Amino acid sequence: MLKSEYLQRVYTQVVTRDPDQREFHQAVLEVLESLDLIVDRHPEYEERGIIESFVEPERMICFRVPWDDDQGRVHVNRGYRIQFNSAIGPYKGGLRFHPTVNLSILKFLGFEQTLKNSLTGLPMGGAKGGSDFDPKGRSDAEVMRFCQSFMTELHRHIGQFVDVPAGDIGVGGREIGYLFGQYSRVRGGHDAGVLTGKGLAFGGSLVRTEATGYGLCYLTEEMLRCMRKESFDGKTVVISGSGNVAIFATEKATQLGGRVVALSDSNGYIHDPKGIDLNVVKDIKLGHRGRIKEYVDRVPGSSYTEGFRGIWNIPCDIALPCATQNEIDGEMARTIVQNGCLAVTEGANMPCLPEAIRVFQEAGLLFAPSKAANAGGVATSGLEMSQNSMRYSWSFEEVDRRLKDIMVNIFHNAYHASEECGVPGDLVVGANIAGFLKVSRGMVAQGLI
Ligand code: NDP
Repeated sequence: MLKSEYLQRVYTQVVTRDPDQREFHQAVLEVLESLDLIVDRHPEYEERGIIESFVEPERMICFRVPWDDDQGRVHVNRGYRIQFNSAIGPYKGGLRFHPTVNLSILKFLGFEQTLKNSLTGLPMGGAKGGSDFDPKGRSDAEVMRFCQSFMTELHRHIGQFVDVPAGDIGVGGREIGYLFGQYSRVRGGHDAGVLTGKGLAFGGSLVRTEATGYGLCYLTEEMLRCMRKESFDGKTVVISGSGNVAIFATEKATQLGGRVVALSDSNGYIHDPKGIDLNVVKDIKLGHRGRIKEYVDRVPGSSYTEGFRGIWNIPCDIALPCATQNEIDGEMARTIVQNGCLAVTEGANMPCLPEAIRVFQEAGLLFAPSKAANAGGVATSGLEMSQNSMRYSWSFEEVDRRLKDIMVNIFHNAYHASEECGVPGDLVVGANIAGFLKVSRGMVAQGLI
């Protein structure tokens, strides 16, 4: 419940304007609850309508994406780009291709992205886009035709100084390659800075593939060290998902001495008490886009269970939800707490429902929200943009070092902000406030409200 009448009015307006956008309401409410702690000290927020501007996207683009399948049948999907906030830099944020994509999901993601990009300390505004297209089961040629049609419209709205999209769920290196090729074809020329997550042969950055999963573990390690004098070493880890974030979180957690015992996909989860053999997972998921259940045919002693939610019944010291939004509810959170978990760090965007976060915080678990914890991906995209501007490439070690510095700084900035707000260690509040302050100052200084 919001104490500030001003914030209550802002929230009511958000809900009344778009009553069906539940994910967006949830993301806005969480941030308003944090702002509730400081809004009394800032009468100018209400006087100048700063929060109203902050929760409204600058621009929402929606378009038709027709494409032919391999049988010559025409399909029509819907494409979107939500340009949420450009106060501190060009819009920046991923593209998601998944049947669940709609305006509510993309507004929530664009809003979160604005705060996340601000936390990285790099000059990037916030955006998100995508389509309800489902690449699963589609041939390379079908995916290529879809990407080409998508970019035929999107190219008008992006550019290295305007808006720089990247990948997200369903958009990996293959899709970015097709999208970039079409951009170059339509615009004429090689403008590497227009997309990130590119292949290394045409302007991509080393570590971008690993960045979100690695960054998640760097932040978790720093949080464990500073708040509990602990580390990954010797800890049992459960990670949901088996996509880009989950795979490289598994890799880094293992390098840091953790034992990852479970992974999932949208059908079910695998449990391997000895520790997941990541080479097998990479072969299944990156090699031929297979299903996670294939793992048990290749690794004796492991088991597979249908239904992805059951993964949270497996006891662990560190939980890293890395699949999708809203996968852990209050009941699952209570199970995680009862199993003796020490820390939960969000790899996916908003995987924990508000009730789940409350359960973790009341039980005294360490909890790092996605906008801080998974910022490593976009931070490395920012480093890719820097390298493109310089026409130069850094080594793996150089990018990895910068990524680690950024993640450690994000933790400390969020922790510091939580102390300033009188709730030390509440990184939800800390990340929201630290991210918001930079963006709102940028908006005011440039008269963007
Ligand atoms: P991928 O598409 O590579 O993998 C997603 C994984 O989550 C897959 O294992 C997928 O299983 C599973 N999944 C997807 N939707 C659902 C669902 N509705 N229920 C259960 N499982 C599901 O995506 P990423 O790993 O790139 O992204 C994962 C999360 O991390 C997303 O929330 C994304 O926004 C966030 N993120 C990603 C970044 C990145 O750099 N990649 C950066 C910052 C955030 P299946 O194969 O069965 O669909």
